[in-house]
Amino acid sequence: MVDDLMLERRGVMLVLSSPSGAGKTTIARELLSRDDKISMSVSTTTRPKRPGEVSGVDYHFVDKTEFNIKRNQQEFLESAKVFDNYYGTPAEPVMAALAEGMDILFDIDWQGTQQLAEKAPDDVVSVFILPPSHSELERRLNRRAQDTPEEVARRMSKAASELSHYAEYDYIIINNLLGESVMRVMSILTAERLKRRRAVGMSNFVKRLCEDG
Ligand code: 5GP
Repeated sequence: MVDDLMLERRGVMLVLSSPSGAGKTTIARELLSRDDKISMSVSTTTRPKRPGEVSGVDYHFVDKTEFNIKRNQQEFLESAKVFDNYYGTPAEPVMAALAEGMDILFDIDWQGTQQLAEKAPDDVVSVFILPPSHSELERRLNRRAQDTPEEVARRMSKAASELSHYAEYDYIIINNLLGESVMRVMSILTAERLKRRRAVGMSNFVKRLCEDG
């Protein structure tokens, strides 16, 4: 990543996690539309495609056999079973984006976050999004209406165990007002981009500052 002053820096791997219905996907979409230096990691999943979802944009949809082959060939940076389906982060596009100087946004669960943080402890910044209340979480899960009522109920019951992982994250955002939450994620990203340890070109820059002419 090269900023306005052409200073080289390490890319940020920004992870957003939350129970379903906390508004994470909307926050991610907003962030991507406002910041052209961060791109989304598109996961591979065995979950059936929902109406409106696009292959290669929302997910790479594969069957279990294909998923296992990819996992065995070490094609994933991390992978996990979530709600009976398998999900994995393809490694190659992430490496390519980081090499091009982009920051990467991940919408993955706590299991994947743990694996990523182990692999790239200096690069991963993790944010957990909480819904403002139990009733609001329930309302958002129902409003989505893309899943069957059984699926909604199941996700609701899973929310508690997902929520218990909040303490493993670097930052917590309670998603009450969308605009405010997006601003908070952007503030985190801005601050993380400015961390000294990411500024790999800094010593040369400072050296030049001290040189004549
Ligand atoms: P959904 O099926 O509703 O799109 O996602 C269900 C859950 O799987 C969400 O919590 C989402 O963050 C998580 N998820 C999506 N992609 C990945 C991935 O590549 N790895 C992991 N570990 N979790 C993922």
